[in-house]
Order: sequence, then C-alpha cells, then structure tokens
Amino acid sequence: MDVSVRASLQLYRLKELVWYVYDHVPFYKKKFDEKGVHPRDIRSLEDIRLLPMTTKTDLRDNYPYGLFAVPMEKIVRIHASSGTTGKPTVVGYTASDIALWSEVMARSLVSAGATKHSIIQNAYGYGLFTGGLGVHYGAERIGATVIPISGGNTARQLLVLEDFGPDIITCTPSYSLYLAEEAHKKGLNLHKLNLKYGLFGAEPWSEAMRDEIERMLPIKAINIYGLSEIIGPGVACECLEQKGLHIYDDHFYPEILNPATGEPVAPGEQGELVITTLTKEGIPLIRYRTRDLTRFLVGECACGRTYPRIDRIMGRTDDMLIIRGVNVFPSQIEEVLVQVEEASPHYVLIVDRENNLDVLTVMVEVNDRVFSDEIKGLETIEQKIRHEIQNVLGISVMVKLVEPRTIERSEGKAKRIIDNRKL
Ligand code: ADP
Ligand code: ZN
Repeated sequence: MDVSVRASLQLYRLKELVWYVYDHVPFYKKKFDEKGVHPRDIRSLEDIRLLPMTTKTDLRDNYPYGLFAVPMEKIVRIHASSGTTGKPTVVGYTASDIALWSEVMARSLVSAGATKHSIIQNAYGYGLFTGGLGVHYGAERIGATVIPISGGNTARQLLVLEDFGPDIITCTPSYSLYLAEEAHKKGLNLHKLNLKYGLFGAEPWSEAMRDEIERMLPIKAINIYGLSEIIGPGVACECLEQKGLHIYDDHFYPEILNPATGEPVAPGEQGELVITTLTKEGIPLIRYRTRDLTRFLVGECACGRTYPRIDRIMGRTDDMLIIRGVNVFPSQIEEVLVQVEEASPHYVLIVDRENNLDVLTVMVEVNDRVFSDEIKGLETIEQKIRHEIQNVLGISVMVKLVEPRTIERSEGKAKRIIDNRKL
C-alpha cells in the first residue's frame, strides 16, 4: 500500500479509536478529560501527540480487566505476561482481535519465508504467554502445517526436526542455539535437514548472535518483535533482506520518543517505541510506552514492502530482564526475598549464558540472626528461596547465600544486576 494511502487509513482509524475508547473505557475518558483533550480535537495524525500516554503501571492499577473496552461476553481469549510486581499483565481478545493477530502473524511468517507448503515447528510455549498461540494462528491463517510442539523437551524437538521435515522453526534465538548444540552432541547432521528459516524473538539478540545461529543451523534467522499489551508477537518482523523490522503500522501506530521528555526524536535517532493500537477491540491502548529502545530506519526496503522499519531492540528504559524468554523484574525477586524470614533485602542478580541457556543466580545476604557455619541450615534456606521464586516467576534460578554486609552498598540507585551475557 502506498504510504500516503495508508496515512489516510491510519487517520480514519485513529479518529474512530479515540471515540471508541472515550465512550467505552472510563480510564481513558478520565485521562482525556484531565488532559483537556476531546476526540473532536484529533484532526491529523500529528494530533496524536495531544493524547495521554499509557504505561504498564496503568495496566497494573486496573488489574485484571479494568482497561477492557468490551463486556466479558465478547472476550474469547485471555493472555498474560509478567508484570513489574507479582501480578501479571492481563490482556483480552475479542474474535476480531484474534483475526487481526492471525493476520499480522501470517504477514510475519510470510515475510520470513513461509508459504502454505511450509511445515512449521512451533517451539514457543503454548499457554498464558502469547508466543505459542500467536505463531499457531498465523501459520493456520496462511494454510501452512503447524507442529504445536511447544517449548522445552529438547530430545523430542530434535526427533521432530529430523523426522517431520519442518522447513521453519520458531522459538527464542537462544533456544535455537541450544538446540543446535544438542544436535551436534547427538551427531545429528543439521545440514541434511529440510530446515530453511527460523523466526526468532521474545528476547533481545544481536547481529553476532544471528551470525552464530546461521552458522550452526543452515537457515536464515529472522527477527520478530511483539509484546502482549499490543497483541503478542507480530507487531513487527524482518523480511528476508534482514535489514530492520517492518512494523505493521496500519494496525500499530508507532512513535519513537525521547523517554525523558516525551518529544519525538530526530529521524533515525534512538528513543522509546510508543505504540497506539489502531484497530484492537478488547483492550485498545493509546500511546503505550513499550520501554523498548529502537530507531526508525530511513529509506525504502529492497523487498518492496512500504511499512516503516525499526532497528532491532537495543535495550530498555527500565530494569526488566528477559530470562529464557520470560520477563523478570528485580522487584519481583525482591518481593519474594522480603517474605523469607532468613533473607535480607540485599541482593544481586547475576545473569550468565551457559550452553546458550540463560542462568539466573540470586545472590542474597542472610540476616545476622541466621548466619551460621551450619551448611545444612543454609542449604535449606537456599532451597526455600529457589522454590518460592519458581512459584512466583515460573523459572528456575540458582540461589547463593552470602554473609551479612558482603554485598556492596551503593549510595545512589542500587546496582542489582550483573548481566554477563554476550549477546
Ligand atoms: P512476548 O511473549 O512476545 O515476549 P511479552 O509481553 O512477554 O511478550 O514481552 C515483550 C517484551 O519482550 C518486549 O517489550 C521486548 O522487551 C521483548 N522482546 C520481544 N521480542 C523481541 C525481539 N525480537 N528483540 C528484542 N526484544 C524483544
Ligand atoms: Zn523489507
């Protein structure tokens, strides 16, 4: 679609959207009123800057369903991702949202080389997280064959890879490397497989990692981006040119802003990606602050698609970590620690990548009362903390107890994260 034609479509949709949220979401009516902006005031796409922004905190404050724009009888699916504290971020989809999601995931898969003849090994997790079902519906939408193997169980993944003949695999980039290594160990010749393309996302990765993946697996590795609040995976995706991710701006209107001032950055400069969902019904969001840092790439893409392109995600404006594809906030770990009697709130999180899998070690001081040389006592406490974190976050971690006052105190913001992963 010609860029100018799409601009009129976007404006039309934006106008509809502001009336829709003003009439259906009390949270937005209040926000608009407080800002002194009315749906009537939106006359051009630039007027989007008059609108208030939405944050993850707004979702949390309205947990679980407060931002939904439709009654529950119209919601056909719930997904959730990790929130900044113990409570997850909850999103709801109407039937038309599921159709929209299938459409953008179909676009993503096609731009990554899929056709209706493809066999897709979908190794994203099925469940509350959006990855698995997002790919699944997109694959069915283009009439490809989907193998819903879900995440984990590496031995079975390898069996399917070898025997079922998939030409596409979808998973996190780090898991693809792990699979490749395991395949090597088992003496499986990856170059004899049918595999041609991989669609990788849900966590940050670099060009160096892409080179590594493409060397280990004989495939083209394509970067896909998304977040639950906006729809799940399928917000933006690379094409086979592998030069930036096309963002589907007929549905997800992007701005890149200076995170401190909220003003647009100069073209091509890095800033925070802020997205307005132009067509979503269940939980439409106005100017949602993703906290992801990127920039617009200028110029046209050789593939011929006219969607604007964003660069790979270069970082975050908050302290969210992604461990094996799962969002983890230090505050969540802290919440667990304060509830463990023997632990102190002084801790450091150390992230390593061993055999291409993320390993999170929680180093925490025990308090004065319990510190003893009795190793067995300490082991029990470590186990307890490990168990609690597994319960709350759903990921396994290593716990290492240290003596009181051994973790460095800082005068400003505590440095709680040591990320040793070389992406
Ligand atoms: P998902 O299940 O798609 O990962 P979440 O809502 O749990 O959705 O997490 C979304 C976050 O994951 C994004 O805000 C971003 O920080 C990160 N993310 C997703 N895809 C990518 C990607 N391709 N590159 C870098 N980070 C990504
Ligand atoms: Zn392209």
